[in-house]
Amino acid sequence: MLDFLGSLERTHLCGELRAANAGQQVVLMGWVNRRRDHGNLIFLDVRDRTGIAQVVLDHELTPEAHHKGEEVRPEYVVAAVGKVRLRDADAINPKMPTGEVEIEATELLILNDTLLAPFSPSEEAIQNEELRLKYRYVDLRRPEMQRNFWLRHRIALAIRENLSEQGFLEIETPILTKSTPEGARDFLVPSRIHAGEFYALPQSPQLFKQILMISGFDRYFQLARCFRDEDLRADRQLEFTQIDLEMSFTNQEKVFGVAEQFMKAAFAAAGVTLATPFPRITYDDSLRQYGTDKPDLRLPRLTDVRPAFTDEALAALKIDPALPVVALRIPKVGELSRKEREDNHPLFDLKKGAKFIDDFKRLAKGFPEAAQKVHELAGAAEGDFVIIVAGDPAHPVKASDTKFPGRLSEREINVYSAAGNFRTELAKKYADRHGAFRVTEQVVRDADPLSGKFVDAAAAFNPIWIVDFPMFEYDLATATWVPAHHPFTAPHEEDMANLLTDPASVRANCYDLAMNGLELGSGSIRIHRKDVQQQIFKSLKISDEEARARFGFFLDALEYGTPPHGGIALGLDRIVMLLAGAASLREVIAFPKSAKAIDLMAEAPTTVTDEQLKELHIRVALKS
Ligand code: ASP
Repeated sequence: MLDFLGSLERTHLCGELRAANAGQQVVLMGWVNRRRDHGNLIFLDVRDRTGIAQVVLDHELTPEAHHKGEEVRPEYVVAAVGKVRLRDADAINPKMPTGEVEIEATELLILNDTLLAPFSPSEEAIQNEELRLKYRYVDLRRPEMQRNFWLRHRIALAIRENLSEQGFLEIETPILTKSTPEGARDFLVPSRIHAGEFYALPQSPQLFKQILMISGFDRYFQLARCFRDEDLRADRQLEFTQIDLEMSFTNQEKVFGVAEQFMKAAFAAAGVTLATPFPRITYDDSLRQYGTDKPDLRLPRLTDVRPAFTDEALAALKIDPALPVVALRIPKVGELSRKEREDNHPLFDLKKGAKFIDDFKRLAKGFPEAAQKVHELAGAAEGDFVIIVAGDPAHPVKASDTKFPGRLSEREINVYSAAGNFRTELAKKYADRHGAFRVTEQVVRDADPLSGKFVDAAAAFNPIWIVDFPMFEYDLATATWVPAHHPFTAPHEEDMANLLTDPASVRANCYDLAMNGLELGSGSIRIHRKDVQQQIFKSLKISDEEARARFGFFLDALEYGTPPHGGIALGLDRIVMLLAGAASLREVIAFPKSAKAIDLMAEAPTTVTDEQLKELHIRVALKS
């Protein structure tokens, strides 16, 4: 028989009881985490969001409550009424914050029972993620998940407060709208009222935030939901939350200043001190030094080791002398057997026209001086794993040969990114040996924002701005230059003249923020003049008619007194994931989609009734 709550009111939260509460009469409510039956004594661990308290049901003192205690099972919902008392010295549990006390219950109410879930929230590591997502309500009860969402709340709140202090207004923009080009597929919503017409869910609030600048709001922000129909990965979901902002009369420096301030506040909310200003690197240098535009600075950078080789040595080693020759170094890996090295080979991306040398003993036999020099240049210590990556003349990639003085060619980019990808993969594989990622895990564990103890982020979280991106990328399939960013990104003013003649040389006035190998987001200074916008569309081969059909409303707005403006959007989910020390976005989004893009709990997507389809003027034709 279940009990009614009646007028009973909770007096304390389970996790907050301490020795100082001894002697107080309390009412706790929560879930039974564990039950231990010692005959005349039954111990219930009662759990709520704040923690666990031990409730004792003594047959001698309160036979009725003890009798109820016999009925309860884990995850039953109970209310315990009683007095807090100090535990006997030998019963103190130093691992529990409430471990010095227990509640001598005079009354126990069973407020609800439960079906038996396939796992219990008190289990530490639950392997089957599909079960976790299906029974998400049980999964979210786990202390680890409760902490992740507490943290998410604190971070979001800190960002809101910080941006508000910096003069930003939070303004909502529509969910049912028109397509925003961010490079992904749109989710479409059929209109019932307008047969055959569709709304698109926003890939970002891009056009609306720019229009808010035209409307004179000066500084806008929003924790905005964005929807992109893409294949899912650990760091990607169909819908996600961006800290989206836009500001008028601004420049890159000012946007960086604003973003660094709210990032500092976000990290402080998690008990981590982030130093500002963040370092910067150009896109080209980021590729040269890390082989990627989202570098992880916790590990050594790539080194140019071309000077270690004579032309003859390169010829003998069948290395393309015109392309980069770089060394990557993973510290403290130790001696690897040939078999161990071979097991790494599938991690190297052969499609980039590059090759690698990971057998240093062999290299040292044939080219002792070169091998020695590579070690020196890379600053390798005993036990470091050093690999040379270079262009492979036998497997050239198809790429544009366009090369502008001072900029990287597509082929060079390919060699660097082959090295960068290999570096990332090996860093993951040998994480236990180099220990660089453990530092981050430790900082996340030590950070305790409530106690006011701040942990320094220096070796654990490395933000870096990536600047001077190219405006266009060469698309091999169509043999054209395509925009590397959304088409409202302004080019560098000095490069404007080359837009139509030398697109590869044009730099975009845009920037990314990366941290620990993750892209946190990007932004740009926007085009605020209609003539420039038209020129960009022309260079992107977007016709006037197409531009009109896709963003006519926006082009119209641009003609009504648009101030110079710019902004940025950073992924809230990713920031929380880093600060929670989580391996996937699914750990910090309450109801995420599975890797197969399914909401396993709600069972979405699903078919709909014929009636609904008819109302929407839709007929489904499935290919058999
Ligand atoms: N709208 C861009 C994005 O979602 C960010 C920006 O340019 O502000 O990536």
